[in-house]
Amino acid sequence: MTRAIYPGSFDPVTRGHLDIIERAGRTMEHLTVAVLVNSVKNPLFTVEERVELLRRETAHLPNVEVTSFNGLLVDFARESGAKVIIRGLRAVTDFEYELQMAQTNRKIAPEVDTLFLTTSLEYAYLSSSIVKEVALYDGDISAFVTPEVEHAVKEKMKQKQNR
Ligand code: ADP
Repeated sequence: MTRAIYPGSFDPVTRGHLDIIERAGRTMEHLTVAVLVNSVKNPLFTVEERVELLRRETAHLPNVEVTSFNGLLVDFARESGAKVIIRGLRAVTDFEYELQMAQTNRKIAPEVDTLFLTTSLEYAYLSSSIVKEVALYDGDISAFVTPEVEHAVKEKMKQKQNR
């Protein structure tokens, strides 16, 4: 049984992330989407909120589960019995960092491999940071995230502005 992990900060989950989750879920027998604790300096959403949003967005996928993790990714992979780490590649700019991470992880845990899925073209420009930036100036983010996530982002932005 091929178990895989898709790690990230998902602050918040975008349509680009969901595309990778759906595609990886079709190839892998089991996929754990893992929200990294402490990966973003000033996150918009707490780890629990990010997990909750991801759970709602992936509820229709029976072989996908969502959790959070702290520490080394390869340790988490070993604990959960996953042999594959899934990462998304958007542009050349992602490549150098991703290559370094994949090689480091292979050195530490040779039994765990990293698999890259290239982005679907319509999401190649998309990142959580872009979503937050557009939302901060009250721009339309409906093309970037699902309606549920859009609502959650707008509520967060309101709370921030009232502080
Ligand atoms: P970001 O904050 O840049 O969205 P994350 O840490 O949440 O990044 O991303 C987790 C993984 O998802 C990374 O492998 C990243 O390359 C990938 N990813 C992020 N956005 C997209 C996208 N639009 N298309 C494909 N992969 C993506």
